[in-house]
Amino acid sequence: MKKSKLLVLGLIAALALTGCGSKTKEEPKTTPDTGVTSTGIPNGTYTGEGEGKGGKIKVELTLEDGEIKKIDVLENSETPGFADAMQTITDAMIATNSFDVDSVSGATLTSTGFKTAVENAFKQTGASKDQLVVKEAAGTSNKEEREAAYTSDVVIVGAGGAGLTAAIEAANNGASVILIEKMPMEGGNTLISGGEYAAPGNWLQKEEGIEDSKDQFYEDVLKGGDYENDPKLVRTLADHALESAEWLRDEVNVTFEDYMLFFGGHSVKRSLVPKDASGVELISKLTQKAKEVGVITHLNTTAKELVVENDKVVAVKADFDGKEITYNANNGVVLATGGFGSNLEMRIKYNPEMNEKILSTNSVGSTGDGITMAEKVGAELVDMGYIQTYPTCDPELGTLLYVGDVRMEGRSILVNKEGKRFVEELERRDVISKAVVEQTGGVSYMFWDDASMKASGVNVQHKKEYDYLIENGILVKADTIEEAAAFFDIDAKELKKTIEKYNEYAKNGKDEEFNKRGTLTAFTDAPYYIMKSKPAIHHTMGGIKINTDANVVDTDGNVIKGLFAAGEVTGDIHGTNRLGSDAIADITVFGRIAGRNAAKAAK
Ligand SMILES: Cc1cc2nc3c(=O)[nH]c(=O)nc-3n(C[C@H](O)[C@H](O)[C@H](O)COP(=O)(O)OP(=O)(O)OC[C@H]3O[C@@H](n4cnc5c(N)ncnc54)[C@H](O)[C@@H]3O)c2cc1C
Repeated sequence: MKKSKLLVLGLIAALALTGCGSKTKEEPKTTPDTGVTSTGIPNGTYTGEGEGKGGKIKVELTLEDGEIKKIDVLENSETPGFADAMQTITDAMIATNSFDVDSVSGATLTSTGFKTAVENAFKQTGASKDQLVVKEAAGTSNKEEREAAYTSDVVIVGAGGAGLTAAIEAANNGASVILIEKMPMEGGNTLISGGEYAAPGNWLQKEEGIEDSKDQFYEDVLKGGDYENDPKLVRTLADHALESAEWLRDEVNVTFEDYMLFFGGHSVKRSLVPKDASGVELISKLTQKAKEVGVITHLNTTAKELVVENDKVVAVKADFDGKEITYNANNGVVLATGGFGSNLEMRIKYNPEMNEKILSTNSVGSTGDGITMAEKVGAELVDMGYIQTYPTCDPELGTLLYVGDVRMEGRSILVNKEGKRFVEELERRDVISKAVVEQTGGVSYMFWDDASMKASGVNVQHKKEYDYLIENGILVKADTIEEAAAFFDIDAKELKKTIEKYNEYAKNGKDEEFNKRGTLTAFTDAPYYIMKSKPAIHHTMGGIKINTDANVVDTDGNVIKGLFAAGEVTGDIHGTNRLGSDAIADITVFGRIAGRNAAKAAK
């Protein structure tokens, strides 16, 4: 059992629980009334609870002379980016002496849970919120002052993993850098990702005696994308994946766990796992580093348009609180706005099968803005129809289920309603997703036993998600295989047969049916677990065409001067299908290249 893995908090699991509902509970006040003021509102401190994105939010509200004096968060499991939203709302409530303040866009569930907690605390006073005398001052972070224009050497659009990486490297190469982000916090999909990073020849592989090479990785990425990828871009990715992981570790201070995961489609286990198996580790360390090297970040700022003068991109026009701001770039602009998994219109435009019936794992900011802006200045778009679904997501919400990572450790099987396996569990995501859709009800059931649970530690590492799944009947823990099967109305006899057969394969070391790669482990220890899941939109492989220097290329194959792109906003790196853990390698490798080259671009 991996000790460090079992010790980590299940922070990112909380993220998977979008739409957990807004159950609230009231608590007795913590201090007695110290007198009723002229407003009729008693002084004192009061506690209240609400349900945020990651679970319970508990606050303490202090009222004095009919005014909101202080709001302290006593308990919460929101991720750092979302937690910032609570401070924004606190500032607004104190400034206006009112609870009727805007939610923070992109952090709606956190905002709602926090506001409910504060209002529940206020209810303890017995007063009505109408008795609060509302002040004029607005005081939200959105009201910060902004100039009409800014100038820096490099302007970066999008503060996810690619954008922050590009910003750091541009600054490291002597450029002044402004990074603009439309959400109230840095992170994008990178923040909610598992942060797993494919690095061929890495330090853990060496310790475990796993042979790997850049060439092997190159071949896996190409094969995984059905050879529709641009081999030159894949070569760059393969050649620089390891050194960029080392850069994250050594220069950005990202902590990696002491184990790896084996993602589908890779020929060997090579995926590094950041602390707590969470993109939070990447984003918090990248954000810190960006600050240290002098990057200026403007949040709540949405890029709208690229400005071209004399055939060179020279500026970005953006919206901040309804005001147009121009960000002039002396040297270059880097687009790092991520993919378009959350833009239904765009999904249907490029792939009608990816319609409203399919849920999504993506963050709300993944709306393809950079792709649209680049296209308007002549950029070539590639592979736009290739949209990947993740096979094992919450059947109601579409969130990626990290408890299902037990599969990537080779320790679970997927069965259908008929109790039969139907695919190799370590196949590519698109292959598994397609197979799942063809099963009864378009769902799959993941099965594993207690020994696998203990060895993987997913119930500890992703505890909040685990609790949520159990509470909501998506995951069942049962003493017998029959009981587990009955919960989801699965054919128990067949399931038992399937498990017996699989245990036999494990004994002989060969999966006769699906040729499952890696080590096979028999299921022998009760309790047993079965989790229901279905595919959801996960990654958009298509995007802006770039060359190996991260220059954006136009429809005639020429470089668009002053314009660079990196990350999920680009296309042609993953072909038809991205392999698990290749995206974080991609955004880091190309984010660094884009940042460096934008810094060095001709003025
Ligand atoms: C749930 C989940 C788990 C994943 N797990 C893994 C994993 O373990 N390993 C792996 O390799 N890949 C994983 N992926 C994929 C990977 O996380 C993404 O491909 C990658 O993080 C994209 O990084 P990026 O910097 O290109 O975009 P993002 O991280 O999405 O950042 C883009 C940023 O641009 C901002 N933006 C967008 N439009 C504008 C605009 N007009 N103006 C200003 N800002 C804008 C967005 O708000 C966002 O902050 C996962 C994805 C998801 C959704």
